Amino acid sequence: MTFLGMPLLRSTRHDHEIPGGQGNIVEDESFAKVSHQHLSNQQLRDNIGHATASIRDKRSEVVAELDDWEALREAGSRAKNQVMENLPEYLAQFEEKFTAAGGIIHWARDADEANAIVTELVEANAPVLENGRREVIKVKSMATQEIGLNEHLETQDIDAFETDLAELIVQLGDDKPSHILVPAIHRNRDEIREIFMEKMPDAGELTNEPAVLAEAARRHLRHKFLTTKVAISGANFGIADTGTLGVVESEGNGRMCLTLPETLITVMGIEKLLPSFDDLEVFLQLLPRSSTGERMNPYTSFWTGKTPGDGPQNVHLVLLDNGRTRALADEHGRTALNCIRCSACMNVCPIYERTGGHAYGSTYPGPIGAILSPLMTGIEVEENGSLPYASSLCGACYDVCPVKINIPEILVHLRNEDVKANHSPVSSQLDTALTGASWMMGDGKRMAAAESGLPLAHKVTGGNQINSLPGIAGAWTSSRDIPGLPEKSFRAMWAEDEARSEEEVRAEEEEEDDEK
Ligand code: SF4
Repeated sequence: MTFLGMPLLRSTRHDHEIPGGQGNIVEDESFAKVSHQHLSNQQLRDNIGHATASIRDKRSEVVAELDDWEALREAGSRAKNQVMENLPEYLAQFEEKFTAAGGIIHWARDADEANAIVTELVEANAPVLENGRREVIKVKSMATQEIGLNEHLETQDIDAFETDLAELIVQLGDDKPSHILVPAIHRNRDEIREIFMEKMPDAGELTNEPAVLAEAARRHLRHKFLTTKVAISGANFGIADTGTLGVVESEGNGRMCLTLPETLITVMGIEKLLPSFDDLEVFLQLLPRSSTGERMNPYTSFWTGKTPGDGPQNVHLVLLDNGRTRALADEHGRTALNCIRCSACMNVCPIYERTGGHAYGSTYPGPIGAILSPLMTGIEVEENGSLPYASSLCGACYDVCPVKINIPEILVHLRNEDVKANHSPVSSQLDTALTGASWMMGDGKRMAAAESGLPLAHKVTGGNQINSLPGIAGAWTSSRDIPGLPEKSFRAMWAEDEARSEEEVRAEEEEEDDEK
């Protein structure tokens, strides 16, 4: 057993009839290992603690303004469930409408196919520059991070420029995103200033003021917006009944990418559909309040295919599976696909707040990452096996989720699946200990007999907190303390209380008799 409580002995890989996803949804190193390193980084914990607390407070304030918040959550959950139950039909409807409006659809089974499609489109539409390379500009997109698109384009002599401020910080810092919404949440202003001073030599002397740093980024990107021929985006929503795509963002960089270049390539997971345009009434209230704590997004862009004489005239959409069909096939876990990537679950998660997003080792961090990544790759992919254990199961994520995904329930389901799929047939010390505990707790008399040892244990430990235990129990106390043992069990105290009550009742009755 590791300190997270996950089985240590694991069996070898298993095959599954539905292929899992590939790319950056697979952990580099197990959460159990990496989280230890991050926990000792005080600067990281301070940066993340400060940022999540402030987004959390903003969210609570704007959510409290709405009397019908619970009804909105219910409506959001219902709409997404409807999509998952009828996904093939909604995808066909979307394709028909988008194509009729002049857009071109490409279907990608996995990361390799999606990367190949995008590369071919860029090569056909972006000129080779003097340095012998092509360039594209990008709007922040989880789907392209998931498939490792930037890294792939790099190998094909194509430079992808991130235009979202936080993504730019991550890219210039040769770093990885650590939060869905705020990818550079682990960086403070001083660190960002240092990165900009080093990687933007033409920016001159900078202070750590947000306005100064934002202005430097704006100047750095402006030329790219005006000259680059191809843009790549993700999408927050695809509307089945109209064939419309939508992106919500806060900086206006998305609007520039979606409107200025000649060619627009969007990569969207197949689960991002909503049944109808009317559903946006619900989702455009749920998403901004849950993500940035705003009443509405500063920039909300929608496009349906192409519009003659206005915006990109070469409009493509890559519809990405990459393990989503696999997740959909899991009837207990499929609601994870309802996620609208608001990140509210991360901002309330006590585990995320202490370890940060890098510890999860996959594109999707936090509570949603702990279920989504293993569901998409398959829990038997050993690299992702530790993710469902990265939770205290406190339930805060479920309480804030705008589409009511019961994350704790899915975590328990995946732990169960992990044990079934990966547990070694060789009995471990943990198995023996749990079998013993099960035998003891399965009978009241046996449990009472075990509890009779409490007064002695209390005496030996002096009633003090227990910080370390020998043997396999040491894995548990390596990261947890056991509260001091009480002198008596609840059962003994209850029995004493009952006896005392009976005596009191008898005494009261005798008193009444005497008075008579
Ligand atoms: S699981 Fe829910 S709370 Fe977490 S990112 Fe997705 S929609 Fe937001």
